[in-house]
Order: sequence, then C-alpha cells, then structure tokens
Amino acid sequence: MTRPDIAVVGGGLLGRCLAWRASRAGARVVLYDAAGSEGEGSAAWVAAGMIAPTTEAMDADTQIASMGRHSLTLWPRWLAELPVPVFYHENGTLLLWHREDAGEAVRAQRMLASRHSQACVKRLESGRIDELEPALGTRFSEALHIPGEAQVDNRAFLKAVAIALEDSGVECHWKTFGMGAKYNWPQLRGVRGEIVRLHAPEIELHHMLRLLHPRYPVYIVPRAEGRLVVGATSIEGEDRSPVSVRGALELLTSAYSMLPALAEARILEFSTQVRPALPNHLPALHFDRERNTLYINGLYRHGFLLTPTIVEEVLALLSFLEPSTPVGRWPCLREKRTETLSADIQDSWEIQTCLS
Ligand SMILES: Cc1cc2nc3c(=O)[nH]c(=O)nc-3n(C[C@H](O)[C@H](O)[C@H](O)COP(=O)(O)OP(=O)(O)OC[C@H]3O[C@@H](n4cnc5c(N)ncnc54)[C@H](O)[C@@H]3O)c2cc1C
Repeated sequence: MTRPDIAVVGGGLLGRCLAWRASRAGARVVLYDAAGSEGEGSAAWVAAGMIAPTTEAMDADTQIASMGRHSLTLWPRWLAELPVPVFYHENGTLLLWHREDAGEAVRAQRMLASRHSQACVKRLESGRIDELEPALGTRFSEALHIPGEAQVDNRAFLKAVAIALEDSGVECHWKTFGMGAKYNWPQLRGVRGEIVRLHAPEIELHHMLRLLHPRYPVYIVPRAEGRLVVGATSIEGEDRSPVSVRGALELLTSAYSMLPALAEARILEFSTQVRPALPNHLPALHFDRERNTLYINGLYRHGFLLTPTIVEEVLALLSFLEPSTPVGRWPCLREKRTETLSADIQDSWEIQTCLS
C-alpha cells in the first residue's frame, strides 16, 4: 500500500469500526490488532451488545444518553452496509424489580424523569407485562418499559466488519502489537466484567430484561436461536482471569430470580474482559501533536452505545465526511479535561491542520 491516510492501532470495537467507515469514506487505512480478526481479544467480544441510551444513562452522564440516541439512528444504516446480515433487535427494555426492591424502582423513575425528559418510559401493570413478554407470566406486578432500545449480536458484528475490511482492501495486521493505550494515557483503568452465555431454546424472550436491584443489577439479553446473554459484574481492576464462583452465583441467581424457567438452560460459556474507563466514565479524544496521533478511549460500558457517534465525529474532524456534517456536538469529546488528559484536546480546526 502507498502511504496510508490513517493507521489504526487496536481493532476491537472502535478501531475496527473507524477503519471500516474511514475506508468507505475514501481513506487508505491500515489496521493493527494484537488479537485475531474475530475480535476475540476485545471487550467487544465479551460484551452484551446493548444499545440502551435511556437505561444506561440512569447511572451515567446525560451526554451518554444523547450520544447513544444519536447512535441508535446510525446503527441500522451501518448494518445495512455490511456484506453479511447481523442480528439486531429494537424491541426495547423491560425494567423489573422484586417487591422488596420497590425503592429501586422509585429511584429509577426519578432518575429517568429528571435526566430524560424526552425519554418515553411506560409503566406497566402485571397483565400488560404478561401480554408483552409472556415468558414472565404474572411474576412481576409492575415494570417499566423503555421502547426503541436495541441490541446487536456483538460477535456477528465484529466478524461482519472484518469481512467488510477485507472487501474494501483495508490492510489488516492481526496478531500484531502496537504501543498499549495506557502508556500514553495513564489515567485509563480497567473495570472487569464477567458475563455468561446460555442456551434456552424453549424460552422465548422479546425484550432485554434488566433487574433493578441494589447489589445485583443483572440483565438478560435474548439472541437468535435460543441464546441468552446474562451480565454483568463490575469489579475495579484489570484481572482477566476466569469468572469467580461469586460472579457466577450472582449472575445466575439474579437471572433465575427474574426468570425461573432458566433452571433448565444450558451454560455455553463464562467469560471476562476489562472495560476501558477514564476517571469521569466518559469517552474522550486526545490529540498528541508530536506523534501526530489521535487517541480515542474511555468507552467504558458504552462501546456499542457510543461507537457510531464517536466514529462519525472523528471522521468529520479528519475531514473524511461531507463538510456539512456537524462537528463538536458532544462536549465530552472536545472539552479540555486536564484531569484526564496528558495533553490538551485540540479543537477541530487544529486537529485537521495537524493531521493534514
Ligand atoms: C462484560 C461486558 C459487557 C459489556 N456490555 C456492553 C453493552 O451491552 N453495551 C455497550 O455499549 N457496551 C458494553 N460493554 C463495553 C464495550 O465492550 C466496550 O466499551 C468496548 O468494547 C470498548 O471498545 P474499544 O474499541 O475501546 O476496546 P475493545 O473492544 O476492548 O478493543 C480493544 C482492541 O485493542 C487491541 N489491543 C490491545 N492492546 C493492543 C496493543 N498493544 N496493540 C494492538 N492492539 C491492541 C485488543 O486486541 C482489542 O481488539 C461491555 C463490556 C464488558 C466487559
């Protein structure tokens, strides 16, 4: 390849998508990743693939919700441009709680009302829950329904993007190490997540289920062919060792308390990975003028939720999109955050000048 326009180091979720979209926009791209083409070394490989701006942002900055809502408009377009179909559902989320945790539901409703005035949240009584999600029966007397939230089969997506990269001539160097992100961004830290994949073809679920619980806020995400993803623990640290007994018990006990029919489900896999987080739990861009390098990190537990929006922003900054594409809509990606960055974020003009 003649000199590339962009060299991407790290082809898990964000880097892989950036390489794909940049090459579609006409850039010559080269990609390096320490693991293989399926993305098996990434947090994205382990993730549940939820794109749930309202639910996630109950405990996060409101910018996460607005960027996530924008991503929801981009996901269907991205998927339509992939060479192979990828499982994607937009059936929304049901928030559930056990009677003794009614306080959690009150807290959730307050957060939703105060942070998401535009969010459409419907309160459901038992009969309506049974109609929407028959597998739950009349087990819960109340629930909150958040329509429109989506989920994507994370592994099928990573694979499909790898095929798209090959089709579009992106030079991919799998199993090749570059410099680790932490070296240049010491404030980055890992948050371990444990997750379990089940097979339960006899259980038909239509929505993502989330349990509102003070200690074990687990979710169940239904996938194609009777597969279910149950996650996830959140433990400070970068330990990627196998799932602990405590983690397994917490995930399975809470999931079973929501859906007792899981008793006969088969355990396909337990897995762990580390979510990349910055101190404020927001994503950020960091431009290193000396190295002519743009660092993008801190996607934490929101990679699938935020990646299309961040990729769009980065390609606009690098002038690979139509000049009419708005830039700088997401303050957390532009703000000068001296507490998190080892160098100042430059404004779009300066980034464009330096990289050109
Ligand atoms: C259990 C769990 C559940 C999750 N569920 C969700 C969810 O439902 N919804 C959601 O939005 N997000 C979820 N996430 C978060 C999401 O997975 C991450 O935010 C996202 O994957 C981060 O994307 P990334 O590209 O920054 O990192 P990654 O996806 O981790 O990719 C990093 C890549 O860099 C490569 N790499 C590392 N070091 C080097 C090096 N030195 N040289 C070259 N390559 C290197 C790795 O091999 C990897 O492929 C979850 C995460 C976990 C752990």
